[in-house]
Amino acid sequence: MNPDFLVIGAGVAGLRAAIELAEAGTVLVVAKDSLRESSSEYAQGGIAVALSDDDEVELHEQDTLYAGDGLCDRVAVRTLVEEGPAAIQELIEWGAAFDREGNKLAFTREAAHSRNRILHAHGDSTGREVARTLYQKACSLPNVTFRSYAATTELLVADGVTGAMIWDAKAQREFPIQARAVLLATGGLGRVFLNTTNPEVATGDGVAMAYRAGAEIGDIEFVQFHPTALAVEGAPRFLLSEALRGEGALLRNTHGERFMERYHPLQELAPRDVVARAISSEMTRTGAPHVFLDLTHRGESFIRARFPRIYETCLRYGVNIGTDAAPVAPAAHYAMGGVRTDLDGRTNVARLFAAGEAACTGVHGANRLASNSLLEGVVFGIRAGRAMREADSGTDPCPQGIPQTAQKTRLETDRSLPEDIQRIAWEKCGIVRSAEGLREAEALLEVLAPQSPEGRNMRQVALLIARCALARKESRGAQFRTDYPEKSEAFARHSVVCKQADVTFR
Ligand SMILES: Cc1cc2nc3c(=O)[nH]c(=O)nc-3n(C[C@H](O)[C@H](O)[C@H](O)COP(=O)(O)OP(=O)(O)OC[C@H]3O[C@@H](n4cnc5c(N)ncnc54)[C@H](O)[C@@H]3O)c2cc1C
Repeated sequence: MNPDFLVIGAGVAGLRAAIELAEAGTVLVVAKDSLRESSSEYAQGGIAVALSDDDEVELHEQDTLYAGDGLCDRVAVRTLVEEGPAAIQELIEWGAAFDREGNKLAFTREAAHSRNRILHAHGDSTGREVARTLYQKACSLPNVTFRSYAATTELLVADGVTGAMIWDAKAQREFPIQARAVLLATGGLGRVFLNTTNPEVATGDGVAMAYRAGAEIGDIEFVQFHPTALAVEGAPRFLLSEALRGEGALLRNTHGERFMERYHPLQELAPRDVVARAISSEMTRTGAPHVFLDLTHRGESFIRARFPRIYETCLRYGVNIGTDAAPVAPAAHYAMGGVRTDLDGRTNVARLFAAGEAACTGVHGANRLASNSLLEGVVFGIRAGRAMREADSGTDPCPQGIPQTAQKTRLETDRSLPEDIQRIAWEKCGIVRSAEGLREAEALLEVLAPQSPEGRNMRQVALLIARCALARKESRGAQFRTDYPEKSEAFARHSVVCKQADVTFR
């Protein structure tokens, strides 16, 4: 049976919205893999919130605006920092076990935060704890049902969005689901790049499907590259959280030299894009495929207790971070841009909403402040859920939708992702960009014709990144262009692109 509301994605944003929707009707949450395979599950460092005694929402606001490099939507930032504390208190009431020192919540510091304001859980499993809490809450609501291994392949469009086509990997069949309102909470797009910290599900499906349905895509050129992913041959690019540097970890090149003082006064705690480019430049200078991240001076027992998951995972790949510096290199990590929404998750397409990493509220501007994304998922998940609830006055008939594409989707059970797309995106739309490389990327991507839905989405997203990065003739936040190395006032605006029109700046 069709639900009232369809939520695509079971990360923090989708789960939080589903809880909000449950009192207004039936909610189906679909996820293309298991319900636990999401970036939310892997988020380690924490969740930023101005709750500690020496913190204020104004300071959190200032730090977010500073990281966003002149491109944050101020109202969105204000909304995030003001509504964050209540949203976190609610999570705690629902059972989220954030780490404590005695009776008090324990706050740590991360790069570019002026206060200790990062809550964490089980040391370094914060996202998992938040997702677990939300999932448990959602499961307690009879109106919410879940379907795993159910990939949305296309939105159904007829006078707005009316539902989605779903590929059921277990039953090997595709079928439509219709709903009064649809939420895209499909997460990020890191897998478009060859090196990424993101899980396999992060192929930018939400952005690509929304684009095809006529939605506006905003600031998609801004991709944050995390400076420190484990760089061990044959191992996944496992993230070594910012919190390690927050606890004093030092960066050294393969000659054993500390180098961050040459790049930024905040050294290891400089903004992520600065650290990523510094590492990339040291790798080029030394000809090595990595630099080293060293926390050994804090002692193995501290490291083991504070970062149990990171410690165990590194050990599995042959690195004991308690006794040895870890080889690290940058990797694609977070999409600041996405499907453009207002503060309530509304897109420009009727009945289509977006929240979390798939959305672009403007809250992150040109660069995200560390640990603001879990908070964004929760705060804007609530708002999107409420708006969808209101949008459903009960008077809207649910028109028969038709799949957006005439072309029959070729569905493949093979989940291997097209490496040629990932390589082009990494090499030409990565940490350091230029007009020449971006044009080459466009030309190379244009002629590719991936067959799987994920492949098509990845190509679409890579093309949008290349086009918008090319149009933005400046370096700002996470975008660095060798041919335009300075920030330009003319581009202190958001890029907007949609199927009907080329890139504009607003
Ligand atoms: C390794 C790592 C560490 C991080 N650490 C932090 C941190 O410490 N603090 C912080 O604030 N942020 C962190 N982030 C970022 C943060 O985790 C994400 O931005 C956030 O969790 C995104 O939540 P979401 O709900 O939008 O999407 P996700 O949690 O990624 O969930 C996406 C969901 O969409 C589903 N989906 C995708 N495509 C489809 C489709 N076609 N059909 C059906 N379902 C689909 C997926 O199956 C999944 O259920 C980290 C990210 C990574 C990868």
